[in-house]
Amino acid sequence: TDDRLISSLAMKEDEDQTLRPQKLNEYIGQKDIKEMLDVYIKAALKREETLDHILFYGPPGLGKTTLAQIVSNEMGVNMKVTSGPAIERSGDLAAILTSLEPGDVLFIDEIHRLPRVVEEVLYAAMEDYVIDIVIGKDQQSRSIRIDLPPFTLIGATTRFGDLSAPLRDRFGVVMRLSFYNQDELGLIVKRTSSVYKTEIKENAVMELAKRSRGTPRIANRLFRRVRDFAEIIGDGTITLDITNHALEKLGISSNGLDHTDKRYLSAIIDKFAGGPVGLESIAATIGEEITTVEDVYEPYLLQEGFIKRTARGRIAMQKSYDALGKKYLKGLFE
Ligand code: ATP
Repeated sequence: TDDRLISSLAMKEDEDQTLRPQKLNEYIGQKDIKEMLDVYIKAALKREETLDHILFYGPPGLGKTTLAQIVSNEMGVNMKVTSGPAIERSGDLAAILTSLEPGDVLFIDEIHRLPRVVEEVLYAAMEDYVIDIVIGKDQQSRSIRIDLPPFTLIGATTRFGDLSAPLRDRFGVVMRLSFYNQDELGLIVKRTSSVYKTEIKENAVMELAKRSRGTPRIANRLFRRVRDFAEIIGDGTITLDITNHALEKLGISSNGLDHTDKRYLSAIIDKFAGGPVGLESIAATIGEEITTVEDVYEPYLLQEGFIKRTARGRIAMQKSYDALGKKYLKGLFE
């Protein structure tokens, strides 16, 4: 089985650029965000101004990078892409910022991981389009100010809470992406099938949508795997039978949970009697990083009601017992 299929949610290496919608009206779901962006973009274009800085946050794979690219396309500007951990020193940031054309977008993924010193330089850049850098050492050192072209910073993060208040406050627009519902995921699957010129049956579309954990990146990944099966064991058309067969081979449950989700739930249920149990203990039990568990796995499990977060820790709900085929006794005593 392919353990990395959902577990590698945060990895983007296999992202297929041809699947990215280019314009706002091709972008499926996130209705409120689209409506607001549409207004901000039109207003900025009308006033011939640079778009305000934008922060997108939410679980991985929901389309933050795609949205940033769309904003750039709609504004008719170029986008430079970098990430928090890639900018190690303020000089790196200066090099990127001075290379921008007026109005360009700078996209910083994982912006919560920017080093402090870099972040502090970014404040003035965002606010006044200038950077102050210190050159030389000790007695000889002096600060020089460099003017920058006006630009739009688009930050993306899975950890809104890890952003410092001064950085957060410098974004004029802050938007939270939510998980997609099954109809929206169905539309994404259909869009992907037409980009790939692969025929897919309606019931297979809905099955893939149901098993994609509310996440377009997963829908597209599952689609590619199922298409492989359709080509090898079928005639190329993706049917419901082939979809079910492929997903079973891949270890994806009918509710879309993957191996790590199931290990997470079974840790709470089997090792900690259903909870409440702290995040640290669960992470240690299943051998995952605390931040990965919190950012990648828990948001979906919480939203879908598999678990509940209380002051004393995580609790497994009846739905988790059902998903693992275990008897739920707790309810009897409550
Ligand atoms: P991360 O949080 O890891 O940075 P992300 O939120 O930036 O991820 P993207 O890389 O933008 O996610 O999206 C993942 C893939 O899902 C894209 O390649 C794109 O094809 C597809 N996708 C995302 N959102 C949509 C959408 N609304 N409509 C159609 N396809 C989408």
